[in-house]
Amino acid sequence: MGKKEIRSLTFEELAGEITALGEKAFRAKQLYKWMHEELADSFDEMTNLSKELRRTLSERYDYTHLELVERKISSIDGTEKYLFRLFDGNVIESVLMRYHHGNSVCISSQAGCRMGCRFCASTIGGLTRNLLPSEMLDQIYQIQKTSGERVSNVVVMGTGEPLDNYENLLRFLQLLTDEHGLHISQRNVTVSTCGIVEKIRALAEERMQITLALSLHASSQEKRRQLMPIAHKYELQDVLDACRYYFECTGRRITFEYSLVGGVNDTKQDAKELAALLADLNCHVNLIPVNPVRERSFVQPDRSVVLAFQKELGRYGINATVRREMGRDIAGACGQLRKSYMEGQEKKNG
Ligand code: SAH
Repeated sequence: MGKKEIRSLTFEELAGEITALGEKAFRAKQLYKWMHEELADSFDEMTNLSKELRRTLSERYDYTHLELVERKISSIDGTEKYLFRLFDGNVIESVLMRYHHGNSVCISSQAGCRMGCRFCASTIGGLTRNLLPSEMLDQIYQIQKTSGERVSNVVVMGTGEPLDNYENLLRFLQLLTDEHGLHISQRNVTVSTCGIVEKIRALAEERMQITLALSLHASSQEKRRQLMPIAHKYELQDVLDACRYYFECTGRRITFEYSLVGGVNDTKQDAKELAALLADLNCHVNLIPVNPVRERSFVQPDRSVVLAFQKELGRYGINATVRREMGRDIAGACGQLRKSYMEGQEKKNG
């Protein structure tokens, strides 16, 4: 590694580089098609390019791909969890979920995470590194190839904070939605963030049609701080203002994620405060009964408490759904497949 990763170049950039090599412009189209439509894993597969050109390209560029380490399939609903190895040995996980409206892939944006949310397994070992645009894309490419099924929706909700890897995220979004690649509709892409205010505003100004999901998890600044260290950096009102700005710029309704934690943020009073907070926002609330993580003592509220919370929000005119638990038999909380694999490796090594 050290050369440019060719699958992270946008079509325009690639065309510029290929013509600079003295090649005809249509070669860039062929190459782009091999990489982002045929989903080739290496230059060797590109049989309509001369051996010489393939050699030149491999001297100039890196072409890395993910290797499948493990694939777990739920016998309940067909959800699939994938563990992939990156070129440098790091591992990441991704999930394929099957819905009536199509297949959705949840990807990781970083190896590890430095946001430190108290209930989240992905952040326990800290941040290892950012993922390249090509590494975010390849999660979808490899899943599409392995499962043999088309992916229509992408959610950036796996390990990592996407807005903490902002430049690579933007490039990934451009490649993913490019008409010469998988051409996934911007409306079918969701980016979830813990709330990095200036990056939410920057993303708004890109004026893409992607959905922003904001991890709220509390109805007051004080409670949010107990669950999410990032709340020490940004005031809740500033986060909500950034969400309003996102809606103004894009016209896209915001999704607020709210993990319900037993005895922490699940009372009717919490629901009432949450409703007041969101009253003037065009939004939708996604309630996620917290997934217990071994290292943490948080518990899921009873089902009746979850439904009462949802009902209470509804009373104040806030539209809320309870996230359906997918792949209960293979899941565990997000980030736990990667974590248990890494712990296994550590034991082996000593
Ligand atoms: N960093 C991004 C995306 C990653 S997590 C973000 O913070 O939004 C995707 C969602 O799952 C977030 O809302 C996150 O807070 C939530 N989450 C993480 N661990 C969880 C757990 N154990 N139970 C329920 N939700 C969890």
